[in-house]
Amino acid sequence: MHACFKKILIANRGEIACRVIRTARRMGIETVAVYSDADRNSLHVEMADEAVHIGPSPVGESYLVGERIIAAALETGAEAIHPGYGFLSENPGFVDAVEAAGLTFIGPSADAIRAMGLKDAAKDLMQKAGVPVVPGYQGNRQEPEFLAEEAERIGYPVLIKARAGGGGKGMRKVERAQDFADALRSAAREASAAFGDPHVLIEKFITAPRHIEVQVFGDSHGNVVHLFERDCSLQRRHQKVIEEAPAPGMSAEMRAAMTGAAVKAAEAIAYRGAGTIEFIADGSGPLRPDGFWFMEMNTRLQVEHPVTEMITGIDLVEWQLLVAAGAPLPFAQPDIAITGHAFEARLYAEDPARDFIPVTGRLEHLEFPPEGRFDTGVRTGDAITPFYDPMIAKVITHGPDRETALVRLSTMLDGTHVAGTATNAAFLSALSRQPGFVAGAFDTGLIERELADLTAAAAVPEEHVALAAILALGIDPDMPHLGWRAYGEAFHDVRLSARDRAYERCLSLGKNGGMTLSGGAEPVVLENVAIGKAEISARLGPARKQISARFVRVPQASGLLVSVHMNGRTEDFVLADQRSGAAAEADESRAVIAPMTGTIVQLSVSAGDVVEAGQKLGVMEAMKMETALVAPLSGRVATVDCAEGATVSDGAVLVTFEEEAS
Ligand code: ADP
Repeated sequence: MHACFKKILIANRGEIACRVIRTARRMGIETVAVYSDADRNSLHVEMADEAVHIGPSPVGESYLVGERIIAAALETGAEAIHPGYGFLSENPGFVDAVEAAGLTFIGPSADAIRAMGLKDAAKDLMQKAGVPVVPGYQGNRQEPEFLAEEAERIGYPVLIKARAGGGGKGMRKVERAQDFADALRSAAREASAAFGDPHVLIEKFITAPRHIEVQVFGDSHGNVVHLFERDCSLQRRHQKVIEEAPAPGMSAEMRAAMTGAAVKAAEAIAYRGAGTIEFIADGSGPLRPDGFWFMEMNTRLQVEHPVTEMITGIDLVEWQLLVAAGAPLPFAQPDIAITGHAFEARLYAEDPARDFIPVTGRLEHLEFPPEGRFDTGVRTGDAITPFYDPMIAKVITHGPDRETALVRLSTMLDGTHVAGTATNAAFLSALSRQPGFVAGAFDTGLIERELADLTAAAAVPEEHVALAAILALGIDPDMPHLGWRAYGEAFHDVRLSARDRAYERCLSLGKNGGMTLSGGAEPVVLENVAIGKAEISARLGPARKQISARFVRVPQASGLLVSVHMNGRTEDFVLADQRSGAAAEADESRAVIAPMTGTIVQLSVSAGDVVEAGQKLGVMEAMKMETALVAPLSGRVATVDCAEGATVSDGAVLVTFEEEAS
């Protein structure tokens, strides 16, 4: 085997940094992480062998500062830098600086990146190499009148694109000539702001388009192979949502034409490393070998690379490392084959009910089902900050055929429990069952057309409310005196909030673990309620249907968070901090009050004791967490209203003090 690196630095964060570290470790290569202030305790830092702090949280002061990253590599003795995707991955100036420092850039040459950096020059280059490109105008002239004439010549609808574009920015679809001037102005303005370059090209807008891309790989010995295609047509605002490989409806003839064009494109720039040639295909009918056109090349590893890994069995990061170290590609084209079908869904902290606005906050709980591949850079307790992309994980499945892999995707999404922040999980799950998508008949407009159905926020199911109420109240169905003594009464009023709505309910406790929640549209009658560490189950209604949910309870500033995950749905409830009547009257500064429902596990105070302010008087346990009970003042204890081992309710007065003597 060709000698590879001993140590590499990963100039990235989140899931891709973790992804690269995993492969490097398997290959016996040491890893250096870099991190900003916000990422001090993040997973990629924990996973790497070493980590170097490179600056404040904003990317412009940390992950985009090439000099600091190169200095970190030199300091730690790393021989090479893996850029991941985004950040500095397609910045030819950075590649030059890395090489000038005597280090290896794990990626293509600066020249290859430059050749593909601007969409207009790339299209020209590809046209010369004999690769079909989308008909349009990609010349230097930018006068609005001239471009309008070109649009007319191309034929409406047209697409105006920023040549420096990325992420769908600076792109405008124009349906009619009279709208062209305005659309051009706004595209150029957006391109200027986003890329500092107002230059645009005009393209024929392909109706019912499919986005199909080909993974290519080159080495420094002149070999170029393709690793088949990915279909990324499920997009929202030109951003990929679910990707798959291979593309549904792909014929052998079409595949040969498309992969042939992709290899030709990579060869035209003597490409080294992992790259992707993006094509747009006419999806108005079956795919045709003369119905696809080059859009652009991404000169890096892509977010959706795992679907290619799943169908080829090849670790693309391993190939990147080998090729960067000068080794030839491990396989020739005939050795690479497709096995089965794969999907990837991008799970984000964003709120589909509010136009997919990214949300920040703490991931109070993050649990994936035991099977499946989940590429993630976060874990329970981590924060989604406003500084970076709010991706939580990539949910990846593989199966012998498309149908099996897609059912697995739905199952994996349904089994994922994220508490504490809104996510697009339910939207992705609905999308994975959308009939057009299931049938493999879709184009890039599918999500937009079906958005209302895909984001229809069904009401919070009353069973979720019932289980949340039981958990919020801290009721223990194993208590022998349930409904008698432990809680003093058999009826509990409870007020929960979920998704900005209040749920006022009454929970009544019967004998033998039976409970009824009333106050909603229909009462929920439960029997045999059983609560484990993280699971609650019961028999529901007259049919005695078995239900079970995963849950977590986390105290937060606004109150107790109770997250219930059942039937593929997560609902987060908050029990507002409503101290019981006694506590409301009791002055917190003059008494010890139970901060939540739980058990007194230790008590070291008796009536008559003289204690100091801040002195620990005991410990209570709730939700697997211990909380110290602390004296709020210095003085003499008047009453102690609890004992070791007792269960106390949220807000119960535990210790009172004598009136101040002095
Ligand atoms: P960006 O670099 O900003 O992501 P792309 O050129 O990759 O822009 O295009 C993004 C998406 O826009 C494509 O995946 C496709 O859905 C759509 N698109 C691009 N060009 C065309 C076109 N000529 N006709 C129709 N849709 C297009």
